[in-house]
Amino acid sequence: MIVAKRKPFDEIMELLQDYKKVLTVGCGTCVAVCLAGGEKEVAVLNSELDMARKLADNPIELGSTTLERQCDREYLDELASKVDEYDALLSMACGVGIQFLAERYPEKPVLPAVDTSGLAVNQSVGFYEERCRSCQQCVLGWTGGICPVTMCAKGLYNGPCGGTNLGSCEIDPEQPCAWYMIHERLAKQGRIDNIKNICSAVGWKDTVPRTLIQPGYKKPEEEGA
Ligand code: SF4
Ligand code: SF4
Repeated sequence: MIVAKRKPFDEIMELLQDYKKVLTVGCGTCVAVCLAGGEKEVAVLNSELDMARKLADNPIELGSTTLERQCDREYLDELASKVDEYDALLSMACGVGIQFLAERYPEKPVLPAVDTSGLAVNQSVGFYEERCRSCQQCVLGWTGGICPVTMCAKGLYNGPCGGTNLGSCEIDPEQPCAWYMIHERLAKQGRIDNIKNICSAVGWKDTVPRTLIQPGYKKPEEEGA
């Protein structure tokens, strides 16, 4: 899932300072699960903003709505009848949802209320650990299912570096060395020879911004061709 957390309140206040009527838009998927930007968080943020702006003698009128997903065009269309009533939109979705909302309603300022952290697993309520950086060249098949891009401080596809120290990473003794863990996992599985496989460098040139097309699908403009 995509993990995010709410921005510091003062930063949100600063972003909104010139606006008098704002629609706060939550997202009902990942950011709702990680308690950053779902329906409940929209309600809490709006009441905090309302109070703070009254105290600052600069009242604000706040609307609220939570879409199923902000990264999906069909759900963004639900806002069409409301957007004109507001000076700005405050999005509580991840960075992807915020950008898609801004693209769908380019005439309105769209402001972020959360900071997006990454792709993570849910270890327990409120505790998430990053596991993937969407590198487009997944090497988990060679590395015993441990992601070196995410878990290694240097994101090394081929490791370890010279800083590995009795299972710890050179940046911090508390931080396990990803490549040590990979070595241990492969040894346990009888696949230690995998460590000799040299992974080629990632083709970063293809990454700004990346287009992800699933097998069997085409870009919309190619559909009719
Ligand atoms: S190697 Fe790591 S960052 Fe790349 S796709 Fe696989 S899990 Fe994600
Ligand atoms: S010590 Fe291990 S985890 Fe740390 S940077 Fe080197 S290879 Fe990566």
